[in-house]
Amino acid sequence: MEDILLIEPNYANKYPPLGLMKISTFHKQLGDCVVFAKGTLPDELAEKRWDKVYVSTLFTFEWEETKKSIEYALTVVKDKKMVFVGGIMATLMPELFMETFPTINLVKGLLNREGTLGLLNEQYIDRLMPDYEILDEIDYKYPATDAYFLYMTRGCGMKCQFCAVQTLEPEYVPYISIRDQIAEVDRRFGAKRNLLLMDNNMLRSNQFDKIVDELIELGFGKGCTYPSPHTGKPLQRYIDFNQGLDAKLLNEHKAKRLGELAISPARIAFDHIEDEEQYKRALELCAKNGIKYLSNYILYNGEDFTGKGQHYRADTPEDLYTRMRISMDFCDELNTKYGNNGRVHIFSFPMKYIPLNAINRSFVGTHWNKKYLRAVQRMLIPTQGKGISTRSFFEADFGNTPEEFIENLAMPEDLLGLRGHFVEKREESKEDRKKRYSQWKVNHARIDEWTRLYRSLGDDYTSYVDLIQDNDFSMDNYAKASTPTLQKMFIHNLSYLAILRNIETLGVEILTYIKVEFPILYAELLKYVIHSEHTQFSSLQGMLTLQGTAYITDVIRAFIEEPYLKTNVFDALYKAQKALKKIVLDTRSLDIALRFKLANAISDTELRNIMRLGLEGDEKKIEARLYQKSKQLREALREQNEDEIASEVILDKIKEIISLLQKVYRKEVK
Ligand code: SF4
Repeated sequence: MEDILLIEPNYANKYPPLGLMKISTFHKQLGDCVVFAKGTLPDELAEKRWDKVYVSTLFTFEWEETKKSIEYALTVVKDKKMVFVGGIMATLMPELFMETFPTINLVKGLLNREGTLGLLNEQYIDRLMPDYEILDEIDYKYPATDAYFLYMTRGCGMKCQFCAVQTLEPEYVPYISIRDQIAEVDRRFGAKRNLLLMDNNMLRSNQFDKIVDELIELGFGKGCTYPSPHTGKPLQRYIDFNQGLDAKLLNEHKAKRLGELAISPARIAFDHIEDEEQYKRALELCAKNGIKYLSNYILYNGEDFTGKGQHYRADTPEDLYTRMRISMDFCDELNTKYGNNGRVHIFSFPMKYIPLNAINRSFVGTHWNKKYLRAVQRMLIPTQGKGISTRSFFEADFGNTPEEFIENLAMPEDLLGLRGHFVEKREESKEDRKKRYSQWKVNHARIDEWTRLYRSLGDDYTSYVDLIQDNDFSMDNYAKASTPTLQKMFIHNLSYLAILRNIETLGVEILTYIKVEFPILYAELLKYVIHSEHTQFSSLQGMLTLQGTAYITDVIRAFIEEPYLKTNVFDALYKAQKALKKIVLDTRSLDIALRFKLANAISDTELRNIMRLGLEGDEKKIEARLYQKSKQLREALREQNEDEIASEVILDKIKEIISLLQKVYRKEVK
């Protein structure tokens, strides 16, 4: 009996690792002890050493996580030659693995022959039943588990240039019965609700009818149900051809047969604008045959390529928009035509193209740039991975026209996230609503200002795209902004902190822009420091250097307008002045005034009056005001903590404040 460890690298994965699940079945049949880990083992097993360790691999861009798992496997295996690495990435990039980890056993392709792992008693592992039990051994929960994960065909044979299937599964197998596997899963683990068929190209099979007949016979015909294990009530069950259906191969007969199945959703890709007619034809065939839930992957960032006997050009951002628009519009058409027996729903999933040999996600297609790609990701956040299905959301998020879409792609990322209508909230106080509404108005004013600048670009449009294309908003890149409009647009991409820290580099013209031309931004910067409890003095030095006393006055004014008692801005302002060796107002006295207010030793009005003295730059008067109130401070603190008067903590607090007063005023406080 051997100790076997199976590792799936610690990346997010929607579907469980079928290969490892089948290897688990194989080893358990031999009587071995099998343990499954996501990334690494829990601490209690850290010291254990294993006879064999299997590591699965998936997407090439997950190389970093994959590497970590193999490194880990090599530290916990008894003999370094007993680490087996297989799966998609291992098959696509074997040289990279062998160069990095020369001692491992690399397993390329499917485990579809006896002896692929070179082990004694090895069977045709790919046809074994997956061991569902191992999924309970880890904390990670795969979104889809209450399902049979099976294949009824293998390979594809269409040889599309960008697709890995021709390398992974070069041979097309048109029919694999799943009858026995389902019976075995039912017997060992209990019946599963749904069926996930992971076939690459089911529609290509010359035994398609036989496949459909078997699926119906196995209880996956249209409208079929399954008794809930908890309540016994019948639940709808579904088949999901999760790798999609090839629109080109769908015809009347096949669509009619698919309509006999509990298929939901039917996934039909719309990867290239050139495929519009065949995509629409496939959607219509589905709708006509009662398949109402349709889902389409829309590949973007792609390169030109040849596949399915055709040449496709590299896609553009406009192509992505147009394909989404076609889906929305065509869905409406289908509902007008076939919606009487239930509406058709189309969910669109834009998916970024990453080449087969990319070991990270940074690939940028010919007609795309980093900034645009980032913007698409940002626009998709509200969908939470559920796809885009409503016209209203699509138009609000992507825009009403391809031009608006491009404008949105160029918009600063933070502003993209601030778009949208003001939404009323139930159970929100009037006060909170007012605050939220006024912030919403400010956000929209920022968006409007950026849009105004964007639309004024004229011939500078290309220069702007050049400036933002790398999504690099460093000061080095700012130096390349060659006109005032480009400079102004650039700063809308910066965080408030970055603007403060770099205000000297941004220059007096930009300071004038944010103070005079677009004062909302200056007010936001003031609000930002007033509402922070951790402002670093160094971030205020630039403003002080450029503006001196005027900046201190602006901060005090903004504070009076919207006081936040826990702010550390007055202390930071003092430190910043000290660092610049030019103290125009000892703002520590204002910081101490906040402590008086926090202890209720002074009223709101008194605090405001003290702040006004700050505006006049009258330190002496502030000092005197606080000194008069120091007795109240002492009493207030004692009163508030009557029960704990002896408590060390409270006494320490009083001492701390008194000692601060002493430092500031150099007076004895009794
Ligand atoms: S048809 Fe689909 S699965 Fe087949 S090679 Fe082309 S992209 Fe890959």
